[in-house]
Amino acid sequence: MKQYIYTSTKDGRIRQVIVDDNGKHTSKSYPRVVMEEYLGRPLKDNEDVHHIDGDVTNNDISNLQIILHGEHQQMHSTKYHDTTEICQICGNKFIMTGKSWSRFVADIHRKTDKKRCLTCSKSCAGKMSSGKYKPLYSVEDRIKELYGAI
Ligand SMILES: [Zn+2]
Ligand SMILES: [Zn+2]
Repeated sequence: MKQYIYTSTKDGRIRQVIVDDNGKHTSKSYPRVVMEEYLGRPLKDNEDVHHIDGDVTNNDISNLQIILHGEHQQMHSTKYHDTTEICQICGNKFIMTGKSWSRFVADIHRKTDKKRCLTCSKSCAGKMSSGKYKPLYSVEDRIKELYGAI
């Protein structure tokens, strides 16, 4: 028996392939493999593994969460979801909820003169609006990466 992992060029997700002694290939979602190893039991059919930060290549156990299939589908059917973001000013990680995302993007759509940015706190938001600090990355790129378009 041989096993290896590969990244699908279609959706960027990682899969584990097992080749048995007869040369028969079976493949399995890698985050499921990680979760099963962590739990020490196979996952049930209705148990999905969700990536907390929205990054399907981040299969660290701390980024994985079991969600029942129905709930999981519902979660991804609403366009915006909870993600872990990096503050554009101080570089700290914080949780951006689906609700905050939808408000944030709606604000960009309204094309207010105010530059929107992802900040972890009121203090960082204040620094950003002072104009003295350069954002660490482009928020537009991040939104495109998560949601495909602004
Ligand atoms: Zn998910
Ligand atoms: Zn910050």
